[in-house]
Order: sequence, then C-alpha cells, then structure tokens
Amino acid sequence: MSDVLERLRAELGVRVRTDAESRDAHRRDRWVLEELHDLEGRPPARPLAVVFAESTEDVASVLRICRQTRTPVVPFGGGSGVCGGIHVQKDSVVVSTRAMQGLVEIDRRDLVASFRAGTLGIDAEQRLQREGLTIGLWPQSIELSTVGGWVATRASGQFSTAYGSIEDLVFALEAVLPDGRVIRTRQTPRASAGPDLRQIFIGSEGTLGIVTEVSFSLRPLPEARRGQTQIFEDFASGLEAIRSFMAAGWRPPVVRLYDEAETRRNFGDACPEGNALLLLHEGPAVAVEVELPAVAALCEAAGARPGAAAVVDDWLDHRNQVPGFRGFLEKGIVLDTIEVAATWGRVADLYERVTRSISELPGVLAATAHSSHSYRSGTNLYFTFAVRPTDRAEMEGVYLECWRRTLRETLACGGGIAHHHGIGRVRREALTSELGASGVALLRTLKRALDPDGLLNPGVLLPDAPEPP
Ligand SMILES: Cc1cc2nc3c(=O)[nH]c(=O)nc-3n(C[C@H](O)[C@H](O)[C@H](O)COP(=O)(O)OP(=O)(O)OC[C@H]3O[C@@H](n4cnc5c(N)ncnc54)[C@H](O)[C@@H]3O)c2cc1C
Repeated sequence: MSDVLERLRAELGVRVRTDAESRDAHRRDRWVLEELHDLEGRPPARPLAVVFAESTEDVASVLRICRQTRTPVVPFGGGSGVCGGIHVQKDSVVVSTRAMQGLVEIDRRDLVASFRAGTLGIDAEQRLQREGLTIGLWPQSIELSTVGGWVATRASGQFSTAYGSIEDLVFALEAVLPDGRVIRTRQTPRASAGPDLRQIFIGSEGTLGIVTEVSFSLRPLPEARRGQTQIFEDFASGLEAIRSFMAAGWRPPVVRLYDEAETRRNFGDACPEGNALLLLHEGPAVAVEVELPAVAALCEAAGARPGAAAVVDDWLDHRNQVPGFRGFLEKGIVLDTIEVAATWGRVADLYERVTRSISELPGVLAATAHSSHSYRSGTNLYFTFAVRPTDRAEMEGVYLECWRRTLRETLACGGGIAHHHGIGRVRREALTSELGASGVALLRTLKRALDPDGLLNPGVLLPDAPEPP
C-alpha cells in the first residue's frame, strides 16, 4: 500500500493528495442509494489517495504504477453520475480529471473543437458560444459534469432530438489504456477502417480506459428559436403526435411530453390539466417558420389544443435546476428517476405497465413519466418514483423494488433498460438481459484483454462473473 503512494508521490508530487477532505469528496457519485447509505452513516471507503492528473502523461503514469502494484483505480470527472459508477473500495486510488481543463484547439471553418477531459460541460459550451458556436449537448447536469464524463457515460442532452447524443457529437478522442498506452482516434469526417474505436470508450464507464481529450463536431448557434406548447387529453395521443412528426421528417431539438401528473407538478398554473408537450424549434429563421406550424398541424391532427407558449420560456429559464434528494430521504421518502427507451409500437404500453406496477406498492407518492428524447423509431421514457414506506428500515428494499419493477416491465415490453444515465452499479445485474449472454461475454473478453487484473473501476458496468461450474 505504501509502495503505491511512494511511487505516485515520486512521479506526480503534489498532484497526489491524501488529505481527508480530498479523499472524502471522491468516494462516490450522486446515486440516491449512496446518498441514503451516507445518511445512515455507512459511506463507501476512503481512497488511499486522489491524484489530480494535469496531463495525459500523468494519467498514464498513474495507470502504470497502479498496474505494477495491483492497485484498483477509479476515474472521477464531475461526480454527477447517478447510477453508482463511482464507489470507492478500500485501497483504491482515484484519478480526478478536473485539473485537465480547457480548450486545446478550435477550427472555426471545420467546426471542430477539442477540450481536455476534465472541462465542465458549461465551461466548454460558454467558451464556444463566445465564438457563435455550440456543441449542442446540454444535459441538465451541464454545470456539474465533465466532457470526459459525458463520453464515459454515453450522455444525452435536452436538444438531442435534432442534434443527437454524445455518440453523434464526438469527432475524435484520446484515452489512456489500463496499461498506460495512449490511443488517439483520427480527425476525419468518416472512416471505413474497421470498427469505430471511439465506441470502445463511449459508454465504457471508466472500465476500459481513461478519456483525456474530447473533440466535438460543432454547429453554429441558431439564427432563430421559437417555442410552442401543445396539450393532449392523454399521454398516448401525445406520443402518437411525436411519432407522426418524427416520421414526417421534422426535427425540433426539444421535444418533451409530460404525463398529467408531471404537467401539473411542473407547470401547474399555466397548464392545470392535460399532458403538456413542449417543443422548441431552432435553426435558420426560414426553417423555424416552416417547421413550427407543420408540427402544430400534426399535433392538432392527433387531438391536441395549443397551450401557453410561455411555458417553454419558463422551462428554458429553469432547465438546469438540480433537485436535491437528501431532504426527501431525511423525511423517509425514497425517490429516483429511471430512463428507459422503446419503439413507438411499445412505448405507450411500457408507460402504463411501469406506472401501474410502481403504483401498486404501499406508500407510493408518485409514479410518473415524461418523454424527452425522440427518434424516428421510438422514444425514451423518464420515470420518476417516490415512495414513503411505513418503516424507514424498508427504504432500501423499496427503492430496489421500484428499480426491479421498472426494468422488468421494460424488458417485458422489449424496451432498452438505460437511455442515458448508464449502467453503473444499479443496472449491472440487468445488463445480460440487455446485451444477451454472448454480448456480456464479448465485453468481458475485451475487459480482460485490456485490464487482466480488473483494476480499472471494478464493480461497474459488468455483472459479477458467473461461478465456474
Ligand atoms: C441533476 C442531474 C441531472 C442530470 N442530467 C443528465 C442529463 O440530462 N443527461 C445525461 O446524460 N446525464 C445526466 N445526469 C447524469 C450525469 O450528469 C452524467 O452521467 C454525466 O455524463 C456524468 O459526468 P461526470 O463528469 O459527472 O462523470 P462522473 O460522475 O465523474 O463519472 C461517471 C462515470 O464515468 C467514469 N469517468 C468519469 N470521467 C471519466 C474519464 N475521463 N474517462 C473514463 N471514465 C470516466 C467514472 O468512473 C464513472 O464510472 C444528471 C445527473 C444529475 C445529478
């Protein structure tokens, strides 16, 4: 143990921190279950040290030393993950990317910009907006999360329906493999040169390498932006309207359909009843002027009536507000959000099955959903549940039961178990149902080839290996 610290200090000096404050701040992410364990006085272990890597070479040194000393390593970006992707075990070293910050280079003509992996999303976006450009990825956690974390978790943002998610926006990346070698993908607009190596790291949740630099393909800030709200009697009609305008080829960047309970909860005064669909149209002014009425007509054909457009402005003003769950947990209420996805033919059924299944639990306060990322062939559902069990000792069990029911119904409907928050710890035992046994075996083979001792972010993404027969 002291061997690893001595070697890290010798190579990285003051970038290696062992003070209690740094170690405490890097034990875990924002997974609700960790928050509950904290409240109950059982937080994860403290890491041996937190290394604030300042360069790709620093990351490579840490990974080499940790491999030689067989020390587990946990990558840490903004710590805003919500699935247990960071949970430090005893004798681990945390690598924080937060000292690797800022713009590396920008090419305004090619619309490409590269950032160091620890740059906060909001800093990258503000830097680009000063040039009249945008990445177009705006997660609600943009002020808390890093661009490297976006890659590692396969993040998606509020404008995804037109601009796509991280996998559509990463132009190239640099990552350090578990043995310290550096890999950098090339900056070409497309390549037919075997499997796309970017995809090994996108969504790998710190298990296959540490991302050190991310290049984005940019777009200019839109010339025009207009919002509209449509109100539907029922959630299924709203879904049908989205399906119809997506099929027709319209692409408003923001498409958010809230069920009745969420409509009341979020926009009560302006939308006291119905299921609200918030739409934001962006782009060249002439395109916005054509798209808005065309989408409105398809909504009307699906049974909508127009709602107050000001609701969209209000949402835009408050969209980064981050809810704190701690206060609810202190009152004995467990809650969380779970995002899944399904094809158009299945999604209305999925909504009914999950909300019904959670509502059957004793003490349920909310089982609601909205759809916020749509595609030609389907959409996501973002469920929120809140339950107050009669006995506080049941909080963890009830929490896990809500997750079990949601993932079970999702799989029963043929849906995908994770739309954008990733797998972490909370979903890893369901990964085999998502990828199939052969899919998990393939991932395990890749993991073993790159990280034979399983030192990089152990316990995340992959389910526990089955016992040998
Ligand atoms: C209030 C709130 C709102 C959110 N809204 C959204 C949303 O709209 N869309 C969305 O997609 N997500 C959202 N999230 C989830 C979270 O913000 C994302 O998963 C985000 O991408 C995590 O980035 P991070 O830098 O905080 O990563 P961390 O939480 O630090 O890490 C996440 C995982 O990636 C690994 N990791 C981190 N950095 C690297 C790296 N450089 N290389 C390799 N592995 C790394 C970690 O080990 C961990 O397993 C939200 C979270 C909160 C708390």
